Amino acid sequence: MKKNKNRVIERAVIHDFAAEGKCIVKHEGEVIFVAGSNVAPGDEVKLLVSKKKKNYSEGRILETYSYSPDRIEAFCSHFGVCGGCKWQHVPYDRQLQQKWQQVNDQLVRIGKLPIGEVWPILGSAKTQFYRNKLEFTFSNSRWLTNAEIQSEDDINKNSLGFHVPGRFDKVLPIDKCYLQGDPSNAIRDFFGEYAHSHGLSFYDHVIHEGFMRNLMIRTSTTGDVMVVVQFAQNNQEVIKDILDKFIETFPQITSVNYFINTKRNDTYFDLEPVCVYGTPYITEEMEGLKFRIGVKSFYQTNSEQAYELYKITRDFAKITDNDVVYDLYTGTGTIANFVARQAKKVVGVEYIEEAIEDAKVNSEINNISNTSFFAGDMTKVLTDAFIEKNGQPDVIITDPPRAGMSKEVVDTILRAAPKRIVYVSCNPATQARDLSLLSEKYKITEVKPVDMFPHTHHVENVVGLELK
Ligand code: SAH
Repeated sequence: MKKNKNRVIERAVIHDFAAEGKCIVKHEGEVIFVAGSNVAPGDEVKLLVSKKKKNYSEGRILETYSYSPDRIEAFCSHFGVCGGCKWQHVPYDRQLQQKWQQVNDQLVRIGKLPIGEVWPILGSAKTQFYRNKLEFTFSNSRWLTNAEIQSEDDINKNSLGFHVPGRFDKVLPIDKCYLQGDPSNAIRDFFGEYAHSHGLSFYDHVIHEGFMRNLMIRTSTTGDVMVVVQFAQNNQEVIKDILDKFIETFPQITSVNYFINTKRNDTYFDLEPVCVYGTPYITEEMEGLKFRIGVKSFYQTNSEQAYELYKITRDFAKITDNDVVYDLYTGTGTIANFVARQAKKVVGVEYIEEAIEDAKVNSEINNISNTSFFAGDMTKVLTDAFIEKNGQPDVIITDPPRAGMSKEVVDTILRAAPKRIVYVSCNPATQARDLSLLSEKYKITEVKPVDMFPHTHHVENVVGLELK
């Protein structure tokens, strides 16, 4: 292995965006990828080059001499430190162009897939306050500004906010977050202020002590609002007081829940939530279909744009009433239920058992009776025997995680040979790999990128395929 070599490039100009939200510098024949949350093409910078790989290096900005004239002013006071909304200094149409480029690069330039053209990207109507779920962390180790570090004053280091990227223990207090609509900011402030004024301890993520641990807020387009608080100790008197006061202050709340988490990690999937007010779920709606979202349920975080994504998916699927449809990586069965009325039947498969339970409930409350859902690892569940038993698919919709599909799953799909496949992906690189395998039998007919996450580098891409 090569040793890291640290060297400084005194002056370099950021050349362009690269994949994964990085930027690229081309300097004396060398290609350097630069990560960071306050960088844009056209910036003039001083660089620390840290890793020398065979074909490229990696660098970090030490100082910015001048900002690109193409930048716009960031709207959030936390820009540059917070890990969210990293592209807010880039005009939205430029962000969209970059995301389209990312898809084109992976599928056409690098993947060399036979594609007529990548269709124009669908931007998000909302570019702020588009998320329906946020999680804030309580910490007794606040991220300090340089002035605070140098100051002699006694500083209260308790904080409720977001983790600073790469720092599991440091939390940036948030004044106003532009990601989730009302009453998200007010709810966060309520819990932060209550904890401060009542002397409740903020969690210490190094020695694992403290009381207030985590706050999750979920909202829906129907107006429902869910709050889930993680406490590290089962102190019923305090929990009752804080949640009673909260409910009094926010009469619009429809679901209040808590977890007692005494474990060393923050995950709640192995914990039982306690609902103290309202329903243990909120409801999302699409074309009259209701989706119940429980405390632990997965739901696409940009609800309005999820609807657009599902419509594109449904259009590409061209389902007719005699079709057997498979919805792979179905999550809580949202796509399966969304297309069920057009199909003869829909089979959904997903890893997480609770999600499959949600998927079944979502069929039930919408009087959908032609769906069936199965929990398990895709590679193990989706076998030839499973297909034999549940019906030959006419259409397969697949929406895998970032890693894409396993070779076995792709092979099973190829053997099943449905007349159409719709591949929804959040990672065009693994999507390109899988499409290349599928192109043995399939022709790519549509490619439509969709922006679900404005001000981030993430892009969703929907591809339609037809049996040759
Ligand atoms: N289509 C869904 C969400 C898809 S997200 C929607 O629009 O809401 C990808 C899903 O794949 C997640 O729910 C995840 O739990 C599931 N998953 C990840 N790896 C898996 C595997 N190996 N087998 C089955 N499901 C898996």
